[in-house]
Amino acid sequence: MDSDPALLRNVAIIAHVDHGKTTLVDKLMYQSGHYRQEALDKLAGGQHGLVFDSNDLERERGITIFSKNCAVEYEDLSGRRLRFNLIDTPGHADFGGEVERVLTMADGVLLVVDAFEGPMPQTRFVLQKALGLGLRPIVVINKVDRPDSRPDEVVSEVFDLLVDLGADDEALDFATVYASARQGWASEDLDNRPEDMRPLLETIVHRVPPPEVNADGPAQMLITTIDFSEFVGRIGIGRVSRGTLTNRQKVTVIDRSGTPTKQQIGQLFTFDGLDRKETQSVPAGDLCAVVGLEPINIGDTVCDLDNPEALPGVEIDVPTLHMT
Ligand code: GDP
Repeated sequence: MDSDPALLRNVAIIAHVDHGKTTLVDKLMYQSGHYRQEALDKLAGGQHGLVFDSNDLERERGITIFSKNCAVEYEDLSGRRLRFNLIDTPGHADFGGEVERVLTMADGVLLVVDAFEGPMPQTRFVLQKALGLGLRPIVVINKVDRPDSRPDEVVSEVFDLLVDLGADDEALDFATVYASARQGWASEDLDNRPEDMRPLLETIVHRVPPPEVNADGPAQMLITTIDFSEFVGRIGIGRVSRGTLTNRQKVTVIDRSGTPTKQQIGQLFTFDGLDRKETQSVPAGDLCAVVGLEPINIGDTVCDLDNPEALPGVEIDVPTLHMT
């Protein structure tokens, strides 16, 4: 996989519960060819929640970890091979700044809104946080196949919501994509229904900026999410913000109280479809899962061994977790 940041997009997905986030991500996965047919077969039959909502695949493979991040590969119309990291945002009320933390990994957001229901309170809450971080939305009006859908009204409700939240002109000039995730298509033009999700992927390519990175400085990554695996223990997830992290690299980890400890990375992973793919290095701009640093906590900064500089965390108010 090419690690050129120009070919990378980090996109957070915001949706009120039931507006179709899971179905949409499933279809994006399917489009990118990552979706394993056997998994589809196994999980089909009315059961929903194939990607974001299910631990079944991980359990079946006998390893690790449920991740709310996944990655989709896409060859765009000009033949470039891109990778999108799709970052789930919590669908429930925010605890301890979780929403802000995961949003710091993103460079843009997909705002998925039900074409009948329109924007809902949870949409508003997370959207406000995203705007506060300078992220621009792509508005996905989903479920336009519903006979009671009212896509045009819902678009203007989203516009009003953005105005209400104080969005700047750039955010108000959002791209709108109409979709039926269930039927597996998306289009910028309601009257023109293509057969797949490609128009949404193209919109992401053009509307979400590639990560701006300082590729040459000493490595630095803020831990924004923690996963746990009974095999490898705690897994720190974040976005490499500077330099490159390498496998087995000796690093300084600075915890939230500012205490540095010297440690060594055990394994490095990037996101690859539903899986995580072990890799030798992760450059700035990409999302990364790190194994072997313990105890690793949200808000810790993983740094180059000799350049221990803590990253300012966003508002972090979670209890420090310890292994039992
Ligand atoms: P999430 O809670 O946002 O992840 O929503 P889901 O993807 O689980 O979808 C919630 C419900 O809406 C499920 O019953 C889906 O089948 C249905 N749904 C999702 N997308 C569409 C769509 O495009 N059209 C219609 N009619 N239903 C949809």
